Order: sequence, then structure tokens, then C-alpha cells
Amino acid sequence: MSLDSEPRASASVLIASHWLAEPLCMCYFPFVNSMKKIAVIAGDGIGKEVIPQAVKVIEATKAPVELTYLDWGADRYLRDGTTVPKDGFEMLARDFDAIFVGAFGDPRVPSNIHAKEILLGMRFKMDLYANVRPVRLLDASLCPLKGMEPKDIDFVVIRENTEGPYVDRGSVTNEGTDDEVAIQEDVNTYKGVRRIIRYAFEYCAHNKKADDTRRSRVLMSDKSNAMTYAGGLWQRVFKEVSAEYPQIKSEHMYVDALCAQMVRDPRQLDVIVTNNIFGDIITDLAAGLQGGLGMAASGNIHPGKTSMFEPVHGSAPAIAEKNIANPMGAILTAAMMLRHLGLTRQARWIEDGVLEAVRQKKTTQDIGGNLGTSEVVLWSTKSKFIAYVGDPDFHDGAIRKISRNSDELVVEVEGSTGTRFAVRFVGVESVISYNPEEMGLEALVEMETVAPSRRFVFVNWLEPEDQGGDAKLQIIARDFSVEKLMADG
Ligand code: ATP
Repeated sequence: MSLDSEPRASASVLIASHWLAEPLCMCYFPFVNSMKKIAVIAGDGIGKEVIPQAVKVIEATKAPVELTYLDWGADRYLRDGTTVPKDGFEMLARDFDAIFVGAFGDPRVPSNIHAKEILLGMRFKMDLYANVRPVRLLDASLCPLKGMEPKDIDFVVIRENTEGPYVDRGSVTNEGTDDEVAIQEDVNTYKGVRRIIRYAFEYCAHNKKADDTRRSRVLMSDKSNAMTYAGGLWQRVFKEVSAEYPQIKSEHMYVDALCAQMVRDPRQLDVIVTNNIFGDIITDLAAGLQGGLGMAASGNIHPGKTSMFEPVHGSAPAIAEKNIANPMGAILTAAMMLRHLGLTRQARWIEDGVLEAVRQKKTTQDIGGNLGTSEVVLWSTKSKFIAYVGDPDFHDGAIRKISRNSDELVVEVEGSTGTRFAVRFVGVESVISYNPEEMGLEALVEMETVAPSRRFVFVNWLEPEDQGGDAKLQIIARDFSVEKLMADG
């Protein structure tokens, strides 16, 4: 999308909010110039319900993304026997910036062959070695533990994603007899262990908690007291890598003790790194702390390569096609993907919408609300949205003049190349301003559309950093229009 193109028409956006359907303005995001290409694979079961809903939310942000839908899953497999089309993984890596996935698993395919080939294929063949699973409590009411507040639970599990027992190596001898022996090999390579541990330290060094405090500790979890070969390697490499990060506190816990700790007191947890199977198990437990599987998001990441994002839950056939699946895990996964693609503001907007929906109990039944899957999304996209108005040089500009006449207010804005605009607000109810003529304008943001009034905010994106800008001029009005007064002055 070029910077000054029209917003993309989309049926889902029309459903999401009637405001969005109006030909209001030209929309763009100031710091992102390139369109990001995302492959969307909803898959099976509740994946087919939650992913389209999360896509509606992505579209409501007007993020500069191009979505391509792929029909990989049980339906396709049952139709023509295809699990992954020829060169499918090469195509994903070559043609897309990210992959947004639902879930795989369908009772009509008891072998689960398609799920294994698609999901594990993506993780293994695309070498998406870091499975990042944030565990964040959004509201105290969602946690089964007594007295836990959102500030108490904000940790992340970094799960190794390409090795362990999931490589499916092993053997069965004397099958069907009393002497049957099944061996499942747990593969741990030095390089594989080192890169995931290093990823965890890098994650710790470069990511903050939701309350903006620094992450400061990495805990490695294994079962080295019983599984000595693999555990020995993990122990040694953890010591080796942690020495490279003296500013980060390194800790160790056996995985069974960690499970007890998670339930007894999860407040000390920060970044946890562990192997494939322990990571799989402890993140289901961790999801319980944040409101259940319906709330948990994840990314399958290889830095610098096309990465894949999926909610932690599976296809949950038992609750499919009932409009009761919680879409929040998928929506938070969408936010995680956008942030990974550099679309931080859109990610924040999505997360804020989810937080608000949770606080107001506009949720599905599993977390205490009474809305259906699609109603949750309808509510969270309708309650507020972002629109940036103007033209490529609308940002980096400045407010030149503000004039008010009865219930009309006109803000004259000059862009960085000299283009002038008049932004005309009608039905003005209130204006709150903080010396707006002094500020360098970055964009006009429209927030919280509560009909019949709407709140518009001019912001300076540069301050404070990464907080959606500092509101310098806020106008509550019925509507607005933008007129170009002078081009390229
Ligand atoms: P697998 O984990 O092997 O894929 P599955 O698909 O049955 O198996 P999950 O999808 O992980 O398992 O879900 C287990 C249970 O958790 C579901 O039956 C359901 O009760 C609950 N659950 C999972 N996801 C959601 C969701 N998005 N909304 C509401 N409940 C959910």
C-alpha cells in the first residue's frame, strides 16, 4: 500500500464498525512504509472460528498488511489427500513475512497426519526454533490463585521447538507381546540448546514487562537429576551462555519444582527457558494462571526468517461450531505477530482492546462473560479504533491555527513539506488542549468512538516513547472532515 492510498475495503471491517465503513480519510501509519505479507491458515476446529475473528481485528487496525488465505487442514486433506502442498514451506518462507495459524486436529483424521505434517513441519522444516509463550494476567478475576494481580503474573516461556522427543525418532520391538519395548528418543544438540538459551537471554535483555519494568532473570528448567544425558548438556550450556550476560540473573529449577512454584507463587517468574516437551506441558499450566487456554498466545520464531504465530490452544473439537470459543488467544497472537513485524502501535491498540473487553466482561463464557466468539470481536473493534488522517506529510507537521465558531472547530495543520490542511470538526462538545501550537504534530488519531460523539486526539508520537503519543489536543465531536488548503508549499 502506498502511503496515500485509500483504506482497503473489507467486508469484515464493515461488520466491525459502521464508522470504519465511512469514506472518512486516507489512512496510513507514519513509520511503516512497506506492506507486510501474511499467510493465514485457520486450520481445523475452533481455529476456523477464532482466526477469522482475529483477522477482523487486524483489519480494524488498518495495519499495512496483505493477507493470503491458505486452506491447509483436515478439509483439504479429506478432499484431495494434501497435507502440505508441494514446496509449501519454501513458498511460505519466500513469499511471506509471517504466518498466522489457528489449530490442527480433526476427529475425521484419527491419525492426525495432516496436523503433524503441517504444524510440526512448519516448526521443524522452517527451523522455527524459539516457541515464545507470554503468560500475562490481564485481570485479577481471571486467575484461579487467590490475591494475584496483573502485576504479579507477567512472565514468558521460551520453549525449544525443533528437538526433544518431538522429532519422533525411536523404535518399537516385540510389538503386541509382553516383551514390547517402545523407545522415544529425546534429541538435544549442543547447537540447538545453545541457540534457545541464547534466545532467552536476548529476549530478557530486550523486552520489558507490561508495566514497563525491565526483565532481569532467566530460569532454565530441566529434569537433569533423572535425565542425566540431556540434562547434563542443558546444564553445561546454560552456565556457558549465562556467563555472557552478567547483568541478567540466571536461575535453575527442576521442572516438577517449577510446576509447584507456578501454582504456589508465580510472582518471581520472569523468563523461563526449557526444552520442547517441558515447554509444551508447563505452558498449559501457565495458561491456567491467565484465564485458560483461550487466553494464551504464542510465536514460533527464527530471528530473521519468516516466523509463525498461533494461539496456544488446539482445535478443541468438543467446543467447535458453537460460537463459544474464546478468540482472545488468537487476537493476542495477532498482536504479537504485528509487533514482531514492527507494527507496534497496532499491536498495542489490539492489546488495549482485549484488556478493556476483559475488564468489562465483554468475553466468552470460559472467562466469565456471556458473549459468543463473534460478539467479542464486534465489541472490541467497535468500542474504539485508530484512524490516521491526511497525507504522506501529514505527520512531522505542526498545528498552525485553531479557530472555533459555535459548535465547529477548525484546526489548520502544516505538513513537513509545506502542505496545509484544515481539519474541520462538527458538533464539538468539548476541547481540551495543552498548548497545541507549540507541538510538532505527528498524526491525528481518532479514539473511542462512542456514538453519537467521538473522541479525536492530536498526538505527538515522539513523546513519550512508545506510549501512543502524548495527547496534546483532544476534541469530542460528532464528526470531522479534512480539506487540503495548499499543496507542496
Ligand atoms: P490438543 O491439545 O491435542 O490439540 P484439543 O484440541 O482438544 O487437544 P485444546 O484445544 O488444547 O485441546 O483444548 C482443551 C480444552 O480447553 C478444550 O476442550 C476446551 O474446553 C478448552 N479450550 C481450549 N481452547 C479454548 C478456547 N479458545 N476457548 C474456550 N475454551 C477453550
